[in-house]
Amino acid sequence: MTSPTLSIVAPVYNEEAILPEFYARVRDAMVAIGDTWELILVNDGSRDNSLPIMWSIAENDEHVRVVNFARNFGHQVAVTAGIDHARGAAVVLIDADLQDPPEVITELVAKWREGYEVVYAVREEREGESWFKRVTAKLFYRILYRITDVKIPVDTGDFRLMDAKVAQILRDMREHNRFIRGMTSWVGFKQTGVKYVRHARKAGETKYPLRKMLSFALDAVTSFSYFPLQVMVYMAGFLGIMAIAVAIVISILRVTQGEGYFGGQATTIVLLLLLSSFQFLFLFLIGQYVARIYDETRNRPLYVVASRNGFSESENDERVAPAHGRSSTRLPAPPLETQDAGE
Ligand code: UDP
Ligand code: MG
Repeated sequence: MTSPTLSIVAPVYNEEAILPEFYARVRDAMVAIGDTWELILVNDGSRDNSLPIMWSIAENDEHVRVVNFARNFGHQVAVTAGIDHARGAAVVLIDADLQDPPEVITELVAKWREGYEVVYAVREEREGESWFKRVTAKLFYRILYRITDVKIPVDTGDFRLMDAKVAQILRDMREHNRFIRGMTSWVGFKQTGVKYVRHARKAGETKYPLRKMLSFALDAVTSFSYFPLQVMVYMAGFLGIMAIAVAIVISILRVTQGEGYFGGQATTIVLLLLLSSFQFLFLFLIGQYVARIYDETRNRPLYVVASRNGFSESENDERVAPAHGRSSTRLPAPPLETQDAGE
């Protein structure tokens, strides 16, 4: 099978209610564009009927290929597996819940044809998402923009197109706590944005509850910024100056007013608790970086594939990043069960 022009990559976790419509909309969009294409669906350990549905879609349409994970590895890792398996001259990342309209791919492709290597879709409006999610997301992207050196465009999700050469660089970036929108910015090249309206989910519910959103935000920050570590020095400076100032004031009061000033225990207790709270916060932040170092040193594969549909044997050998080694995509692949990893 020759390589298609466009590879569409969609992570799928319990999306049985949407999959048939998602597939149909992608197919129609591809037919409208007219280039050769493939759709790579990565089943991220769905517990509903998503897998059989994907399987039957792939059986009936040779454009569709399925990578089935052995368990849930998370959205960003599922996207990574899709990129690993993509063969297109351009790779498009899109959510399977139809929040990202497949029709927008036409605009992404048009920009790519103009010569841009990364075309990301910017959410101009977000429909059907809670007040809380909209406000926290807006705030998050803006804070992240300020504290990172890599300029990650604001209000931009993973919905984007990347040229094959960018995809190839991403395949070699095997970090475990992944923030793919940051990683594609990091790569560089000519990048541009296209505005779109992010719709409400067609069916099903979000797989990003608050807890996952927070851990995703931490991945983003720790992957691209030392700011939380650096901010400690300001805290140290501020508290140091406060200590000296308070010492001077107390000394003066003691001399001029006599003993008895600042005898209250309440002040001490409040200050002690406040300072301990800061210290634990910073310990937590350091811990976040340390835990991520630990993730890297364990050197586990990023994901495990249980089965695949739509891939020929020879492609399996060529396409999948092997389990170990730095230049992952260039080494020969080990047998099926272990070949899915990064490094
Ligand atoms: N997803 C996934 N694994 C997960 C969580 C989500 O593959 O552990 C997929 C999900 O099926 C969807 C996309 O990632 O296609 C985005 O997830 P979701 O729509 O729940 O996130 P939101 O849009 O609410 O931020
Ligand atoms: Mg969604």
